[in-house]
Amino acid sequence: MNEKRGMMMNRKKTAVRPGGQRVCRAFKRCGGCQLSESYEQQVERKQAKAERMLSKFTKVRPMLTMDDPYNYRCKVQNVYGTDRSGRIISGVYQSSGQKLTAVEDCMLEDRRAQAIVADIRKLMRPLKIAPYDNRTGQGILRHTLIRTSPSTGQVMLVMVTPGAMFPAKKNFIRAMTEKHPELTTIVQNVCRDPMPLTLGDRDIVMHGPGFIEDLLCGCRFRISPQSFYQVNPKMTGKLYETALSAAGIGQGIRVLDAYCGTGTIGIICAKRGAKVEGVELDPSACRDAVANAKLNGLENVRFCCADAGEFMRQQAQEGSRFDVLILDPPRAGASPEFIKSAGICGPDRIVYISCKIESLERDIRLFARQGYRAVYLQPVDMFPHTMGIETVCLMERRER
Ligand code: SAH
Repeated sequence: MNEKRGMMMNRKKTAVRPGGQRVCRAFKRCGGCQLSESYEQQVERKQAKAERMLSKFTKVRPMLTMDDPYNYRCKVQNVYGTDRSGRIISGVYQSSGQKLTAVEDCMLEDRRAQAIVADIRKLMRPLKIAPYDNRTGQGILRHTLIRTSPSTGQVMLVMVTPGAMFPAKKNFIRAMTEKHPELTTIVQNVCRDPMPLTLGDRDIVMHGPGFIEDLLCGCRFRISPQSFYQVNPKMTGKLYETALSAAGIGQGIRVLDAYCGTGTIGIICAKRGAKVEGVELDPSACRDAVANAKLNGLENVRFCCADAGEFMRQQAQEGSRFDVLILDPPRAGASPEFIKSAGICGPDRIVYISCKIESLERDIRLFARQGYRAVYLQPVDMFPHTMGIETVCLMERRER
């Protein structure tokens, strides 16, 4: 199919099949979704995969699913460019390479973010904000990142640029905030990295406090542009409650929250009386975690900015003791060093929150060598229309 025809098709609205199932016309080129079957079939497929890979350890419980599996993503990223007629378009790089595919009606993204992106496109020409061209190095706007909080209604816009220059800054802020009062903060991020959709280290706050706040499980969290935060707010509460009830959190329980991001899980544990330590590698997320402990008036939680494996090795050396280890590592899973040292520390329970079933399978085996046995497996559908499977796994220490 030629590129021009592809773009025209993408601009059409998402189609709806009988029964309410939506079909995206950019499915093949975008790559954001991997499954185009009905939601029930998707769930069946993922449940079957979870059982195939994990039921050898213990029973896999039926997946927790979404009632309305559309427009759930509260983190929305777009690249900008022009089509053959010179019209400004926004979307993603095609899964096959560097070509931009216009996606203006994504069925995963929060609709408020899509409305903001549509207005950015309209403003770019009049305000001379040209899309950045990777080949020539010309232009201003590399991409945008929008984070929305359904619970507070706050929205953050991050304009990612190759340098600090931003033409018609005041006019841009005025136009955007008048049209979208929900935009409580706008940040310019300077990024020279040619990799698509990455953020640079430098944030220039253009409007508002430079972060938004979100409410989860009775706590308040601030989220900065560069910090990790779960992307499906409708399911995050369910995921955390599942993990916390598996962990048996209560008054006085000593918890280590590893790969803690902005401190969400640890802070919710602390709010319920646990004594918590968190470890996180990313300095921005760690700063947010410290600020979030304060925001929730908690003194029974502290955070350390370090590599989780290195941190755990030190804990093992010092003979630290805690009752529960909660870990929520990135897709690659935990490092062998982390698992070995965790085994030496010997918590009674380990709650592993995994976003990639292959690494979870591997790590359950590694934890088994440290004397732990999986006793509870609960998949949670955090990413409908993709093959991503989030799983909460409780492991208990065998009697020594
Ligand atoms: N539990 C958090 C974050 C989970 S995402 C939440 O639910 O929001 C995984 C986190 O691990 C990210 O914040 C990432 O920055 C962090 N991370 C990645 N590698 C790490 C490492 N080696 N040591 C510590 N943290 C790491």
